[in-house]
Amino acid sequence: MSPRVPAPVRTALAVLVPAALAAPSGVGAAPYRQPVNGDVVVTAYFDHGGVRDWACTDWTYGGHRGTDIAIIGRFAAQDEGRDITAAQAGRVTRTHDGEFDRCTTADCAGGNGFGNYVYVEHADGHVTIYAHMRQGSVRVAEGQQVGCGDVIGQVGSSGYSTGPHCHFEVRVGGNADDPFSGQCGGPLSYWVAQGDHRGLPTRDCAGGEPPPPPPPPPPPERPDIHLALSFEPPGDAPRACDFDDCRDFVRDGTSGGLFDAWLGETFSVHVVVSNQGNGTTQGESPEDSAITLQYELPAGLAPVGYDIQTDWPAKDRASWQPNDAMQNPANPPADAPPGAGELRLNGFSPGESKRVTLRVRATESSVASGAHRPVRAWIKHLRGYYGEKTGWDDPAEVNDGQTYNGGDLKAGGELDVFDPTAFLFESPDAAMVEGWRRCAPDAVAGFTVNPADHALSSEIVGPGPCIEGPRVAVPLAGFAGLRLVARQHQTRRSGRVHWTTETEPDFSDARSVEFHTDGGGLFDELHLAMPWDRGATLTRLRLLPVADAGSGNPWFDVAEIRLTADAPAPPPPGPAGADSGSGDPGAGGAGPYPPGVPDPDDGVPPPPGADTDGGSLFTGEPTPGALPDPAAGADYAGGCIASGQSPRPPAALIGMLFFGLHLRRRRAPSGRRPRPARQV
Ligand SMILES: [Zn+2]
Repeated sequence: MSPRVPAPVRTALAVLVPAALAAPSGVGAAPYRQPVNGDVVVTAYFDHGGVRDWACTDWTYGGHRGTDIAIIGRFAAQDEGRDITAAQAGRVTRTHDGEFDRCTTADCAGGNGFGNYVYVEHADGHVTIYAHMRQGSVRVAEGQQVGCGDVIGQVGSSGYSTGPHCHFEVRVGGNADDPFSGQCGGPLSYWVAQGDHRGLPTRDCAGGEPPPPPPPPPPPERPDIHLALSFEPPGDAPRACDFDDCRDFVRDGTSGGLFDAWLGETFSVHVVVSNQGNGTTQGESPEDSAITLQYELPAGLAPVGYDIQTDWPAKDRASWQPNDAMQNPANPPADAPPGAGELRLNGFSPGESKRVTLRVRATESSVASGAHRPVRAWIKHLRGYYGEKTGWDDPAEVNDGQTYNGGDLKAGGELDVFDPTAFLFESPDAAMVEGWRRCAPDAVAGFTVNPADHALSSEIVGPGPCIEGPRVAVPLAGFAGLRLVARQHQTRRSGRVHWTTETEPDFSDARSVEFHTDGGGLFDELHLAMPWDRGATLTRLRLLPVADAGSGNPWFDVAEIRLTADAPAPPPPGPAGADSGSGDPGAGGAGPYPPGVPDPDDGVPPPPGADTDGGSLFTGEPTPGALPDPAAGADYAGGCIASGQSPRPPAALIGMLFFGLHLRRRRAPSGRRPRPARQV
């Protein structure tokens, strides 16, 4: 318990309840805190008779039954609000509110002179009364428990009052008592610490606990900018997906985790800039307040438009609305942004995010070279917080309020662009199988890119071998043929190419053509007429079976699988007895041969020039970077080698000799593009 200050005499009560006075601990529980917050002064004490306060001075007036605590500033302070708190924990027993609170005459009606008031009964049965409160300020109800220091109302001047103050009165056994002890007062002080005469009792609650601390001052206002970049697949034409995440439909090798796009496809790059600070980016002028974003698209991605949106007022990074930054004359036309440039995003409110959406079209495939394409964006400038950063690798001066990414406001994303009509296996990375996979894992053991021969190599170890490509969505209107560059190491073998379409999703011999490889470890360039429905959309290709398990060299290699615009041309006259070429009957033929039936008249390769590339799938434009028709014999690979991963053997020389004899069927896998080092 806190000390009670002994006093020599306590008048009336000393006569009425001497036992209580003899045992202070029996009189009360916790003592009181000074109940009014803010700048205050005591203007009148309890009158012990004869206009005499507890210290034997006249700082009271006749018959005053409480302690008047006035606020400095009078009605102006009252209008600002000065809180009255419970002097001690207890239960609210009476309240009254609604009375006029600007009384200056000491005789305003209401509340029996107390105006607006609150009574609190404490554990020891004592009651404290807080009177003359501000109209409408009573914020506790009868029966409510309050703690010491809890706000119960505000200072006013209601009832018999001449100015804003709190009349604080203590009732013991129904009689008013003076909480101060002194020579002319009682023997006990009810205060935690009553202080000097005309000073103030402490505002600390009993037990030494300070009153609730004031809330900390708000931190200084400043912006805190964050940046994120992401890709979004096209929404207008739903993309066919093998996996849950359409953004990463080829996960081989280092393609895993990258956004994948098809050649010719238009998709979106989102750059979200967020102000997660508590201040605006507002400067002295609109120019000062603007965030400038810079971006960079790689070659092979053509911008076709952009939007700037804001999530204001929701600030949820989801409710995107057009932003007036689109009208900023410094920005490029909405339908013709450059491949690299600046965008003015204007100012940001606290919590506001803006989303830049760049719509881009993939104009070059990158997988054959194994090079990923980075898309980059960074904040160039934000006055006072972020210095001039004009290049991705440039350092920037960063205000210490800037936290994102160590203060470096840049974000990038990598993507692979695949051509769904042309699968080449030129990567030096053995895992870069371009989305192909084994559909009969028991029959195909090894499955890898052979970098020496630029081929996808399958090791056949059981019956029913099968490999299949990734799911695609290729309208077949522009494609009549398939070029297949493949080899195996036995004697002549037949295989089949199967396909599925969106309307016929199951593999069936009814949708297949036969092909032959002559074996001996030499690549055959096969031109297959494809009797598929030209109105359909191709969804997948399969190759099966293509080599023998258990033979001396069970590897089957595919260097190229490419849709072609034209069916094979009619066979030119060839020398009798020449080794037959490859390919199945031409367009308009009787359709696929039944499995296992020897083809009596293998097709022949088309004349030079007929072997056209498919062109850009989605636009009909030529495919940039498409392979040239390979020069005869160029980069020839041949010979029976023991493994799909062996380096090119001396047998290549033998292959060159064979080439002359087998001109019509012996081709290099394809022309070669330079293979730049992989960027990761
Ligand atoms: Zn009073």
